[in-house]
Amino acid sequence: MKVLFTVSECVPFIKSGGLADVAGSLPKELFSLGTDVRVMLPKYGKISATYRNKMKKIKEFSVKIGWRNQYCGIEELVLNGITFYFIDNEYYFNRDGLYGYYDDGERFSFFNKAVLESLVHLDFFPDVIHCHDWHTAMIPFLLRVNYDQKEGYEFIRTVFTIHNLQFQGIFPKEIMTDLLGLNERFYHPDQLEFFGNINFMKAGILAADKITTVSPTYRSEIQTAYFGEKLDGLLKMRDEDLIGILNGIDEEFYNPVKDPHLKYPFGMNNLKNKVKSKQEIQGYFGLSIKEDTPLMVMITRLTAQKGLDLVKCVLHEVLQEDIQMIVLGTGDWEFEQFFQRMGSEFPDKLKVHIGFDEGLAHRLYAGADLFLMPSLFEPCGLGQLIAMKYGAIPIVRETGGLNDTVHAYNEQNGIGNGFSFQNFNAHDMLFTIRRAMHFYQHRKVWEHIVHAAMSKDYSWAQSAFKYNQLYAELITRSESHVF
Ligand code: ADP
Repeated sequence: MKVLFTVSECVPFIKSGGLADVAGSLPKELFSLGTDVRVMLPKYGKISATYRNKMKKIKEFSVKIGWRNQYCGIEELVLNGITFYFIDNEYYFNRDGLYGYYDDGERFSFFNKAVLESLVHLDFFPDVIHCHDWHTAMIPFLLRVNYDQKEGYEFIRTVFTIHNLQFQGIFPKEIMTDLLGLNERFYHPDQLEFFGNINFMKAGILAADKITTVSPTYRSEIQTAYFGEKLDGLLKMRDEDLIGILNGIDEEFYNPVKDPHLKYPFGMNNLKNKVKSKQEIQGYFGLSIKEDTPLMVMITRLTAQKGLDLVKCVLHEVLQEDIQMIVLGTGDWEFEQFFQRMGSEFPDKLKVHIGFDEGLAHRLYAGADLFLMPSLFEPCGLGQLIAMKYGAIPIVRETGGLNDTVHAYNEQNGIGNGFSFQNFNAHDMLFTIRRAMHFYQHRKVWEHIVHAAMSKDYSWAQSAFKYNQLYAELITRSESHVF
């Protein structure tokens, strides 16, 4: 089975969030199951020289964007047996960041077209193209509209995974007509039109043979108006082809037993080193070295999605408790300012590091007792999985993948690997934090919860198997989805 992943970010090359973790780790697992999986992504200027220097240019051609022919290079790098293709165009991708540019519509129109054009140049026709999020969502649509009759392309099936429905790639109509070169007739509410614009995500949901979400709960949630981001109607229409498959984590990369970022690696039978990791991080941030005071961390994009409005509401009260807190994150100015202000108000209790730092994140997961993730919505969430693997007990809101992976501790039967609350309510969160702190003081109970969290299987094994089944099922279909 030949599968091509198309994605806008991928570990270890470039990462802004969980999408990159998934794109970096799921192919490894599929590869070990015998699938010929390759990954295609933009060649960003930000990819480190270590990898850039190893890339080999294998093809050059041009891609038509509107009336212009844009240069497109394909560079190749094989890592752990997996072939990665990088779409090279300096003008579009050699920039300081990944997204948020005035011409994102054009940049990703180019990328989507380049992916499809590249197949004939590479003479690689996969059985399935697996697209991820809006950045690659136009591919299934363009494939059906422009390539259906072209040799090699006619049997390709598509899977589109929604990692976050909030980001849809909404652009003016001209992106569709002038740059993608699609007929006016597709500017219609049943097609790509979306409240006076066009919508990449909508194209993927319309045209892909199968659509997946990154957790079963999120699959149901997005079919409601509250979570559906105005696409719930369309998602309901595609209910039969919509499947929730839970994300896993790369258990090699996120493994406290042999994590190179940790001075004191630890496993379930060596929790003394977790205590040392806590002391190490307390010392690093200038917090007092106290074992009995729980250390709660947040490692997150600083955006409203992550439930930061709840944190804003009751942080004063949280910090009245005997607790220490460290926040590592970057994002909206409003939240960065808030945490920095609170950090200077409570210097003995709250430390804030604004930025993105993979190594520091690992040390924080290792040192933390509690991991706070009270998301407003959460397609899957990897933070809580990594935290549990490192024995940091998650406190989460019961939404999306958080609902599927964190099971609230029940003192009646002793079962549970975290703490959770249901309503998006700051005082419910505060109550839950206090509840977790209460059990933290009962060492035996706490060790039991830590064991439950650390011993669960967060690997890709089960989910990769489900993806493989999905691909296999698609390949046997005689026709692709008609829209
Ligand atoms: P999302 O993809 O919505 O940002 P996830 O929980 O799915 O959230 O994945 C977030 C990933 O990014 C995790 O691997 C987390 O450790 C990492 N991460 C988030 N913020 C930072 C940061 N400031 N520094 C380092 N890693 C971060």
